[in-house]
Amino acid sequence: MKTINDFNFKDKQALIRVDFNVPLDKNFQVTDATRIQSAKPTIIKILENGGSCVLMSHLGRPKGIQDEFSLRHIVSSVEDIIGVEVKVANDCIGDEVEELASSLEPGEILLLENLRFHDEEKAGDKAFAEKLSKLGDIYVNDAFGTAHRAHASTTVVAEFFPENKCFGNLLAQEIESIDKVLKTGEKPVLAVLGGAKVSSKITIIENILDKVDHLIIGGGMTFTFIKAQGGSIGDSICEDDKMKLALEILKQAEAKNVKIHLPVDVLAANAFSNDAETQVVDVTMIPDGWQGLDAGPKSKANFHDVVMQCKTILWNGPLGVFEMETFAKGTIELGNSIAEATKNGAFSLVGGGDSVAAVKQFGFENKVSYVSTGGGAMLESLEGKTLPGIAAILE
Ligand code: AMP
Repeated sequence: MKTINDFNFKDKQALIRVDFNVPLDKNFQVTDATRIQSAKPTIIKILENGGSCVLMSHLGRPKGIQDEFSLRHIVSSVEDIIGVEVKVANDCIGDEVEELASSLEPGEILLLENLRFHDEEKAGDKAFAEKLSKLGDIYVNDAFGTAHRAHASTTVVAEFFPENKCFGNLLAQEIESIDKVLKTGEKPVLAVLGGAKVSSKITIIENILDKVDHLIIGGGMTFTFIKAQGGSIGDSICEDDKMKLALEILKQAEAKNVKIHLPVDVLAANAFSNDAETQVVDVTMIPDGWQGLDAGPKSKANFHDVVMQCKTILWNGPLGVFEMETFAKGTIELGNSIAEATKNGAFSLVGGGDSVAAVKQFGFENKVSYVSTGGGAMLESLEGKTLPGIAAILE
């Protein structure tokens, strides 16, 4: 796996695919600069090495050229975070941009305009990728958030740098973290899968049954498993058409010697509302008119014991409806357990979909080993897929 540490950037120009797809408020101010901060180590390393950087990214989902999606809006944030003046191009391809790029001196940065102002970016157009390739000597992919897309700047452009392509620090870290869980993780390995639906996690479950020793299944997914086993789940969320599959998963897990841990009790509510009446009930005896919206106390204690036994932990998906305070406690307690296990030496990776939002909301970011920056890319990695953006560098 080639990274920026394998290249000497002195007097070389790096063409870096970053993920600067940051949220903006109505005054075009960046409201969460995590993605810019995450790209900083790669950019600084190349500049300190005597190179220059051409940064390319998309922002939002523009339809053609739309000023509201211009990367100009984020220039001052990039300058503040990187601490270097940033030159700005009006486009991402063309003569003018090529001229600007070739006039860059070592230590300088050029930010290209939104790649998705051209439909060719998402289409993975080869001619467009070739034009991009003219802007640098070494292609660096540091955008994990788009690594699952076979777009021109994330995948196709790599073809034009057969020898001179590598991963940036961020993407390398993401790959290493996933490998630490799925390939080289110290045993016992635990995956915690929560969230709403079995259907959206099924491929992940099937893939990780070969990799883990323990699997905690929580959140809304619980009830499909419980009903399939003959329990009464009241009005809890359930995918009836996935019940057969749930039983099949339990059988497969047994055959593979994977211990599955489901909630044994839940905090049930008489409405899907933060102010609903609540009661703790056995997960197999939820009365009609009530729905399980969070893990109950016995479940939380069981999950804590499992987490504390494990040396490698993957966490994807909340254990309850964490957006409502009344039903957030199961997710918070699980986060506390994982933080404690991490302090004791376990490796913990959080990622995919809503998990990162939950981890940030409850302040666990710095208490776990690694928080992934890519929602969809992380989910696809956990499904066992090779992401096109990663494959393009490895080829
Ligand atoms: P996912 O994107 O699949 O990880 O699902 C996350 C969503 O699952 C969050 O919005 C949670 O509110 C929701 N969720 C978790 N537990 C439950 C539950 N018991 N009932 C309904 N929704 C749930």
